[in-house]
Amino acid sequence: MGRSFMGYARPVLIAGPCAAESEALLWETAKALKAGGKVSLFRCGVWKVRSMPGTFEGMGEAAMPVLQRIQQELSLPVCVEAATPAQVESVLRHDLSACWVGARTLVNPKQVAEIAEAARGTGLPFLLKNPLVPDLKLWEGAFERFVQAGLHELAAVYRGFASEDAAPYRNRPLWHLAIEWKRRHPDLPLLCDPSHLAGHREWLQEVAQKALYLDVDGLMVEVHAAPEKALSDAAQQIAPESFYQLLSALRFPNRTEANDALNACRTSIDELDAALLGLLSRRMEISRQIARIKREKQMPLLQTRRWQTVLDNALRKAEALQLDEDFVRDVMNRIHEASIEAQEKSL
Ligand code: PEP
Ligand code: MN
Repeated sequence: MGRSFMGYARPVLIAGPCAAESEALLWETAKALKAGGKVSLFRCGVWKVRSMPGTFEGMGEAAMPVLQRIQQELSLPVCVEAATPAQVESVLRHDLSACWVGARTLVNPKQVAEIAEAARGTGLPFLLKNPLVPDLKLWEGAFERFVQAGLHELAAVYRGFASEDAAPYRNRPLWHLAIEWKRRHPDLPLLCDPSHLAGHREWLQEVAQKALYLDVDGLMVEVHAAPEKALSDAAQQIAPESFYQLLSALRFPNRTEANDALNACRTSIDELDAALLGLLSRRMEISRQIARIKREKQMPLLQTRRWQTVLDNALRKAEALQLDEDFVRDVMNRIHEASIEAQEKSL
């Protein structure tokens, strides 16, 4: 089965500072991560794409020879963010192992195409973060552009979506979109970046765990030798020791052992879904019969009092069956809407 990025064992762990701040920081963080023996790729933003002008933008080109030496001397593959063709060329010149395209860049298909074009024919592996906006098509389009440029070593990184009301996180998780993405692209490796999604180290474990339960193939985490003093994203970065504590606190779902029990449950779920659909179809047929009777007797379609009784009954049963009230209310409302629509159509 696919879903491994660059052949690394799953979960693929990518860690390193938000930004290249100094040669000393890069070495110190990289050495600590190498020593733990769990990280496949060292990450670092060299040319940061910041939302606000005047904020720290990374060391730029000066970091590149340092990262090249780190990669060679520590045997620790390095990946950096690339937002322009010139940055891709620098990555290639310095023989770094991979690149990622950030969420701010991914919203611009022209820029994405230029980045992919700059790597054409090189086989350079790329991680594509989801765009700032919750638009899976935009993200899919970026992958297609990379494939068209002959680049096939690709992975997606889920980092949530920009929003003014994501509290307590920095980004809105919209986990249903991660699930939908996996449904559409089951063979493409999907990693999660809990650091940018959470935006604060306090929520990192919760977010990473949620992602692992959704069966992501790896994590990209911001790790900094002195996180409180970081020049960007200080609230969300963690020290190398905290990173290892995080890894030991996380539960990594074991797919193979659980498979038999899961398959039995899935068979039951499939049977129950089929039964639910059969019942819904019978219910709809009866709604249409009701519509015919109402038409003959020239009665209104919506009879509020009757609907209130149906809903009250359902909610009472829900309580007895220990089903969540809001869930049952939503389901019943949706069924009611659909049957009114079906009645209208049969008029
Ligand atoms: C980053 O990983 O450094 C970064 C800026 O992330 P994003 O593009 O997801 O905001
Ligand atoms: Mn960052």
